This record gives sequence, C-alpha cells and structure tokens, in this order.
Amino acid sequence: MKSFEELGLSADTLKTLKVKGFEEPTPIQEKTIPVILLGSEDIIGQAQTGTGKTAAFGLPLVELLDKRLKHVQALVLTPTRELAIQVAEEIHSLKGKKQLSIVPIYGGQSIQLQLRSLRKGVDIVVGTPGRILDHLKRKSLNLQSITHLVLDEGDEMLNMGFLEDVKEIMDQTSEDKRTMLFSATMPKAIMQIAKKYMNEYKVLKVTKGELTSSRTEQIYFEVSEQNKFEALCRIIDVEEDFFGLVFCRTKVDVNRVANHLMERSYQTDALHGDISQSQREKILSKFKKRKINILIATDVAARGLDVPDITHVINYSLPQDPEAYVHRIGRTGRAGKTGNAITFVTPVEYRKLQFIKHKAKTDIRKEKLPKVKDIIKLKKQRIRSRLEGIIETGLKEEYLQLAQNLLDKHESEYLLGALLQHVFQGELDETSYTEIVDTVVDKNGKTRLFVGFGKSSGLTHKKLISIVKEHCDVSSDKIRDIQICDKFAFISLPFHEAEQVLKYFQKNRNQSGVYITKAKKDRGKERRFKR
Ligand code: ADP
Ligand code: MG
Repeated sequence: MKSFEELGLSADTLKTLKVKGFEEPTPIQEKTIPVILLGSEDIIGQAQTGTGKTAAFGLPLVELLDKRLKHVQALVLTPTRELAIQVAEEIHSLKGKKQLSIVPIYGGQSIQLQLRSLRKGVDIVVGTPGRILDHLKRKSLNLQSITHLVLDEGDEMLNMGFLEDVKEIMDQTSEDKRTMLFSATMPKAIMQIAKKYMNEYKVLKVTKGELTSSRTEQIYFEVSEQNKFEALCRIIDVEEDFFGLVFCRTKVDVNRVANHLMERSYQTDALHGDISQSQREKILSKFKKRKINILIATDVAARGLDVPDITHVINYSLPQDPEAYVHRIGRTGRAGKTGNAITFVTPVEYRKLQFIKHKAKTDIRKEKLPKVKDIIKLKKQRIRSRLEGIIETGLKEEYLQLAQNLLDKHESEYLLGALLQHVFQGELDETSYTEIVDTVVDKNGKTRLFVGFGKSSGLTHKKLISIVKEHCDVSSDKIRDIQICDKFAFISLPFHEAEQVLKYFQKNRNQSGVYITKAKKDRGKERRFKR
C-alpha cells in the first residue's frame, strides 16, 4: 500500500491530511489520486460504500485547482441536498490554506444567499441538479469554463429521476472538461448511458468481489407485513445502544413508522423528500448529535450520507434492487468500523431476497427474532449494571442523604421497587409487546389461515369461499386446500390476499362471530381454538 506522499500530493495537502487524521489512503484513493493528478481522461470510480470516494476526487481537485479564478472551475453534482452539504464540507476540509471557495448550492436554501456567494466568485460548486438549473436559467451561474465535472452517486445521477436535468446541465458546460463518475454501484444499463456522455475514459475499480463491507453483519428475519413494527421494536430494544437507520420504500411508510415509534416513546424522526429543507437539516443534525437514535428514511434521502458509527441499518421494506441494498447497508460499517444490516422479508419476497443476495455478491443469514422474555431479561440486566455503575463511580451526597431519610420510614425493597417503577415505568411490561405468530406457508407458497368455526356452525366450502371473496379481491382458482373440520377450518391464500383477510378480521373480530387468524405451525396448538 502506498502513502499519501507517494500519490503525488503536495506538502501542504499532506499537512492538512495529518491534521484531519487521515493516515493512509483508502484503496480507491490510491487508485484515483495519481490518475486524476497526472492523466487527462474521464474517470469512472467504483468502490464500496464508506471507503472515502469523496476524498478520492476531492483531494486531486483541490490540488489541481490551486488558485482562485474569476470563473467556476469545477461542478460536483449530488442527488440530495444533504449530500451536497456533506460533500462541500469534506472538500472544504481538504483544501487547507488554499484560497479556494467551495459552495453548496441546493434547493430549499435561500436563493438570495446563493446569488450573493456566486457573485463573489466560487471555484467549486457542489449542488443538486434542480437548483443548479435554476441558476443557469437566471444566468447567475456560468459553467462554460469548468475543467471538472463530478457526478457523485453517479448511477443515481444518470437514473431516470435525474438524467434529463443532468443532460441539460452538461449541455451548458465546456466540451473539454473532465467528467468523473463515482459510485459504489454501476448497473450495466447506467454504464451504457455513462459511456455516451464521456470522452475517452478509465474505469478505476476496487472490487474485493463483495460490494458490501465485510465488517457489516448481514442477517434477515422472515416477518409478515403485520408483524414488522413489532419486530422493529424488539430489535431496537434488544440493543443497549441502538443508533440506526430504518429504510422504508415510500414517504407514507416512513411517516407511519416514525409516528408509530414516537407513540411508543422512541427517540426518532423521519427523513424524506417532502420534508422542508430547513427541517431536514435539523433532523439530520439531531441524529448526528444523537438527540434521536432512530432515523426513518427513504432510499434517495439517505443516499451517500456519512453519519459516523451507525450501529444498524434496517430494511423495513425490502430494497427495490440489489443496488439499493448495497447503498442502504453502506450507511453502516463505514471507514473501517463494524455494523449490522437487518432485512425484513415477507414470505412472498423470499425469492427477491435470493436475487439481491446473488447480485450483491453477499451472504445474508437467517435469524430468529428476539423473544420478549429475553428482551425483558436483558433490560433487567442493564438496569442492574447501570445502578452498579453509579455506585462504583460515586453516588452523589445529596441522593445518599435522601435515601437514608427515606429508609427511616420505609422497607428498603419497597422503596427501591417504587423508585425503579417510577424511573422505568412500562419498560419491563411484557404486555407492551404483541405476540408474533409465524406465518405458515404451504408448499405452493401460500399462507395458511385458521378459520374459527366449522361444520357444526354450518360452514361449507361454498360459504367459506364467499366469506373470503367478500373481504378480498381474489378469484376462486387462487384459493387452495380448504379443509373443513367440525369446529374449525383451514384455507390457503396468496400472501397479499391473506394479509387483507387478516387485517379485516383483526378489526372486526368481535362484531361477527366469525374470525380468521394465521394458522400456527404447531398443530397441537390448534386445539386451543376449539370452542
Ligand atoms: P463513500 O463516498 O465512499 O461512501 P465517504 O467519502 O463519505 O465514503 O467517506 C467515509 C468516511 O471515511 C468519511 O467520514 C471520511 O472522512 C472518511 N475517510 C475518507 N478517507 C479516509 C482516509 N484515507 N482515512 C481515514 N478516514 C477517511
Ligand atoms: Mg460518497
């Protein structure tokens, strides 16, 4: 491995790196820095998440653009505003004493403020496509003379959502600029698009076979849609210091999960594109300062984010594709740290998980959700060690005195019990957790349901089919394996239809005498349902 010095960086920059605490280059930095410094071809840089891609282009940029000029010299495009701020900050921290001006330009920030800094002169603009286009249209930004264009999260930038804007921006830049694309993933289709917009280029890739960090433990739980929330709570509660990101597919889901967690007194917030910019910045800073320890986010909102020491990434909903998986779990296990990635998989998604596993070239192990009993036990242990910790490190005099006063009047175990109850309230209450019943999947991949009445109450095949049809939109040929016994019955349905029926009967359980629940794996237990 080479040192920063051997990569051709200047003495000033080496000093800056020392202060910043970067001791040696990461593999992608080792590859890109000399090529960007000495060569002239376009670059596609690909390396795992969290391996310092920002500095891999940021360091040579500050070296090459060492003087202030009258015009903008480089443009870095990012998919989100948060990332624009983060990347601008990182480059700023690398420039050392150089008189370079690096400014983030993004939607949601006051345009007046941006106009002012653009008028003063900017060397490196780091921005989101929408706002950059605004400025191009207003003629407050001129990119005709840039020598470098960087697309950070390059595959996302050339994806449908951004491609049109990026093309329009590129049309207004100089022909002979150098284009550099950085990302952890580069799907073939996007690679084709990239080639169209680049001149002679070099691919600099760091592949250890795996796209994800080997320091991140990857596991999955099989959970039905209904049980996901409960599963999430258990995973959070089992950890002593959970500091994690939870990914949902849609903004609606993000809000729902966040609100639900807040109702249960978790310290959490939501991050997605519909939240105002100032709010988003506040939320992210609260998270970084650990005022909240759970952040619920959509894929795009969290792309590229570098929050140190995230312990867990949870895929509350399965990522759309292998690339999304790589980027999501790449928020943990960064810069040499360890992390945990947990994925919730509903029975019908099992194949998709296999596909992701294969494409992301990674192993995802199956595990069992923690049991309520075990969580409570852990919580008790934690209370004990916290108290012992306080005794060891020195109990404050005023509390000790109050304790002695109280002990004059009350029995010690009652007193301590009251204090614990006051402090920990419902924490040790098993009933604050709900039961998770495993979904039984039959050989056709359908969910097996238990029907709480049978022949003796007049149930027939036909009646059961009509009840099911009434509560979900399913054609008869999808219904399988009806089994009608004297006091109860069973039926198999495709996963989604089964979920719909279950949802209905959960709500309307008491109104009609009829009820349908999940079949239990243990057949012996079916007896419990007999009337
Ligand atoms: P990527 O874009 O590859 O996901 P980032 O550029 O966000 O990764 O970097 C991840 C973290 O690693 C950042 O906090 C960054 O400051 C740090 N980092 C980058 N290069 C080095 C290095 N050579 N030594 C130590 N830390 C580094
Ligand atoms: Mg990055």
